[in-house]
Amino acid sequence: MYLHRQQLINEIAIDEPDPAAANALQEGLGGQFGEMRTMMQYLFQSMNFRGDSSSKPYKDLLQGVGTEEISHVELIGTTIARLLDGAPGYSGKKSDPVDEPGKKGATPLSIAKDTGNIHHFLVGAQGALPVDSVGNPWSGSYVYNSGNLVLDLLYNLMLESTGRLQKCRIYEMTDNKAARSTIAYLIVRDQAHENAFAKALESLGVDWGKTLPIPKTNAEQFPEVKKLVDQGLQSVQYTFDIDDASQAAKLYRGASPSNDGTELSTQTIPEGGMPITIAPERKEEFAPGLDPELLALIQATAEVEIDSINKTDTTTA
Ligand code: MN
Ligand code: MN
Repeated sequence: MYLHRQQLINEIAIDEPDPAAANALQEGLGGQFGEMRTMMQYLFQSMNFRGDSSSKPYKDLLQGVGTEEISHVELIGTTIARLLDGAPGYSGKKSDPVDEPGKKGATPLSIAKDTGNIHHFLVGAQGALPVDSVGNPWSGSYVYNSGNLVLDLLYNLMLESTGRLQKCRIYEMTDNKAARSTIAYLIVRDQAHENAFAKALESLGVDWGKTLPIPKTNAEQFPEVKKLVDQGLQSVQYTFDIDDASQAAKLYRGASPSNDGTELSTQTIPEGGMPITIAPERKEEFAPGLDPELLALIQATAEVEIDSINKTDTTTA
């Protein structure tokens, strides 16, 4: 089963809204090599895993990486929503129509007509969509789970490497700090996951020096990436296993297959993170669309709940 922590896995830097950057990031969320695909692919591979007890470390590694990908979906989806809407506490240019809809006589949603995907404003209320950067819906047919461990691991390595390549290209499309902070984090975690699948293949007899080079993108040239690499984030894998039953550390250890001189290690959950906040109301989108009568009902519900919590407290005290 899954638990949820009310923290984003990495901090999103504060910057101006940027619907074009948001749309480029959609490829990293709902594209063929995006976070929704990695999440589903590893979770399906883990659920469907076959083998005797000696193969448990492989299932546990897939499970841990798949669980992390859920948090990547949450991070990149939230980043897209902020780029469309403006970050909490936003204090950008007041002339920006995203900031003040309808300013200077404009129609309130006029910005939508000139953005990469009008659905961000028309179908959703300035939030992320489960589509790629040209609007193709995410598809379950992207998911590769052959049931053959070597084939699945090979495909996973290719998936992470292609995801990283595309994110490096998105990095070069925008200088928006919010977009870049999330892209940089995902680039470094892609490398950590490349290490995971490369190491698992190594344990099955692959000698990387003699077989395949691990694709390089020289992402360290990007300062936000270099900062995270200097912290060693590319060489650690989280198990997200609060019962400490994961055997992923049997695979994710020893010299990094990236040949960067680091040693691989595991830990239960990531350090840091950032509190999740609720996005502000968007009247021009009729979101959340609550009138005074509906708000009164919400307030009444909250009071009933607080009342019952207080009663429970008194009983237990
Ligand atoms: Mn990811
Ligand atoms: Mn990954």
